[in-house]
Amino acid sequence: MLAELSPPLIAQVQDAAKLLASKRRICILTGAGISAESGIPTFRDKQTGLWENYKAEDLATPDAFARDPKLVWSWYQWRRKLVADKTPNPAHHALAQWQQHTISNQQQLTLITQNVDNLHEQAGSIVTHLHGNLWRNRCSQCHIPYINDLEGSKNSEDTINFDELLLTCPHCDGYIRPDIVWFGEALPVQAWQTAEEAAAHCEVFISIGTSSLVYPAAGLAQLAKQNGAKVIEINPDPTPNTIVDITLAEKAGVVMPVLIAQMTALQF
Ligand code: NAD
Ligand code: ZN
Repeated sequence: MLAELSPPLIAQVQDAAKLLASKRRICILTGAGISAESGIPTFRDKQTGLWENYKAEDLATPDAFARDPKLVWSWYQWRRKLVADKTPNPAHHALAQWQQHTISNQQQLTLITQNVDNLHEQAGSIVTHLHGNLWRNRCSQCHIPYINDLEGSKNSEDTINFDELLLTCPHCDGYIRPDIVWFGEALPVQAWQTAEEAAAHCEVFISIGTSSLVYPAAGLAQLAKQNGAKVIEINPDPTPNTIVDITLAEKAGVVMPVLIAQMTALQF
């Protein structure tokens, strides 16, 4: 596997593997880029088809939903259809394998994601979601979860209702919305606390497939760095981020399995 990488990248992967093998507390933040190789477009990719004239940033907001709930609901139903048949890629699997491995190697690994797909869970990981879950709904007014078993049925596209008709809440008649954190909204308190604690106390922070533009999630790497952690970034198009100690400029699905194999080999 190592041989498939360029010589400079091999040296960087080896440095990262050595660092990780010698540390116990690891915090990992993933973004849309880790799901790109599963076929899920990132937010920075241009939208296609029906939605090519819209920007995600203009649809994923409370204002957009208040103005035109039907438009925003239709967009999410379309996104659900797009994601429904997608499966984890080697990066998700490598992380899940690493989490399993920490049971015996004494490492503490906290996995945090900005993604609303549930490909980390599908791969077998335990993950903290900062931005909600594409497969859950709740009321836009009273916030009570709307149970529709989308999550349970997400792998059998036939049984999912991708209807674009707006749903209303049985308690207050408010419109039902996806249980996703939109631009301008606060993050779930418990998830953010888990993320902040893990970032502040980790020895290595790994940022995978995120443009590090969306705050507060983007601040986690800075918090880790201020508290003495080393920062590793995995992104084929690295961010102009001055706090990064090791950059692995390659797709997550290519580099993660190699990195974890190398680290594991050094631990035994
Ligand atoms: P982003 O779209 O802003 O950035 C994606 C980053 O991934 C870019 O820097 C890109 O260079 C990198 N990338 C592309 N392909 C990659 C690969 N194969 N391996 C590694 N990196 C790769 O996404 P973001 O930083 O997560 O932030 C934007 C918001 O988008 C988040 O709030 C997130 O909730 C939302 N979002 C989620 C999904 C999802 O759940 N899969 C999809 C789109 C957007
Ligand atoms: Zn309600």
